[in-house]
Amino acid sequence: MAERLIALVDHRTAPLPAPQAGSRAPAGTLRDARGRPLRDLRISVTDRCNFRCNYCMPKEVFGSEYAWLPHGALLSFEEITRVARLFVAHGVKKLRLTGGEPLLRKGIETLIGQLAALRTPGGGKPEITLTTNGSLLARMAQALKNAGLDRVTVSLDALQDDMFRHMNGVDFPVAEVLAGIAAARQAGLTPVKVNMVVQRGVNDGQIVPMAEHFRGSGVTLRFIEYMDVGATNGWRMEQVLPGAEVIALLQTRFPLLPLDPTAPGETAERWGYAGADGRHDPALGEVGVIQSVTQAFCGDCNRARLSMDGKLFLCLFAGQGYDLRALLREGREDAEIEAALAAIWQGRNDRYSELRASLPPEAARAMRRVEMSYIGG
Ligand code: SAM
Ligand code: SF4
Ligand code: SF4
Repeated sequence: MAERLIALVDHRTAPLPAPQAGSRAPAGTLRDARGRPLRDLRISVTDRCNFRCNYCMPKEVFGSEYAWLPHGALLSFEEITRVARLFVAHGVKKLRLTGGEPLLRKGIETLIGQLAALRTPGGGKPEITLTTNGSLLARMAQALKNAGLDRVTVSLDALQDDMFRHMNGVDFPVAEVLAGIAAARQAGLTPVKVNMVVQRGVNDGQIVPMAEHFRGSGVTLRFIEYMDVGATNGWRMEQVLPGAEVIALLQTRFPLLPLDPTAPGETAERWGYAGADGRHDPALGEVGVIQSVTQAFCGDCNRARLSMDGKLFLCLFAGQGYDLRALLREGREDAEIEAALAAIWQGRNDRYSELRASLPPEAARAMRRVEMSYIGG
């Protein structure tokens, strides 16, 4: 009997641009089809995580049967560093390590050291940051700093211990994450940012306690609108608490003043705590709202994302990524990979958040097939 062949097609892979004989990437910063420069590369270093946040890796989907990627499928540190070097040569100034939980990737300090040695065309060091659930930070913060990490962002969705233990899905105590934040500050991974994903009816009662806790502490708290990333979290618009409502709620407790963006393409809208004189008091610090659902900021989105297995995604909501690992492992020269990067970025037209409102719900759902834990935040 003839063997049945099952074609293994990864629907997350987009065809690479056809190589053009002798084509070279233009020198310097790349711009996409909408004129947006490439500035920020988010690198997901593992698909694994020790948490099971309900909105990201629900237990029912990411259980004991889940097929994690084998180690050989992950980009090696040398492969990641090579890709990052080519991105940095073409305008990237910020490298953010993410996952899954990036601190679970063995030897992450070695990777950080390699990335910290890269230089922009102007001779500067790219900024190296990391987003973590904070569970391993208390013991790793100093080593990460020593390796060359500049800053960390810690995700924390509640201060109330039982609520946090429930939300992270693995009964992890809030005190250990707070200890991680303190260790990061002590190690100089500053300014530390804390990201809170707000789900209406789940943890919105923690907005004020979180603001009270971090106000004047040197840590910048940012409230993130719950996003419709991926297909596993059962997202519904009713669960989104708009950033404007968060600010209105905080205003009833603490006077806040709008602050100017610090950089083009910044995702957070910034608000400063006012002091007794009615002006922003830097000692009290600031909060931010990341309104990816209600206030699309695609217009100056300068971010690319590299998955742990080497696929390049041009948007958090892109259904498909470009398989750079294939180019790396086929033994292509730097110039060929750079030409591919340039063709990919120059063809970029993504602006999912801007389109979301005008898309029929079915079409929007069909577009979001890639999970947050695969391409990071
Ligand atoms: N494990 C690390 C962590 O939790 O910080 C890094 C990876 S995690 C995917 C990156 C960020 O994405 C976290 O701040 C997380 O809260 C956020 N995130 C995950 N799913 C989300 C969703 N559906 N909407 C908004 N933010 C989300
Ligand atoms: Fe893990 Fe981060 Fe996703 Fe939570 S948000 S499940 S910590 S990857
Ligand atoms: Fe950028 Fe895509 Fe988010 Fe728009 S939807 S801001 S293009 S990642």
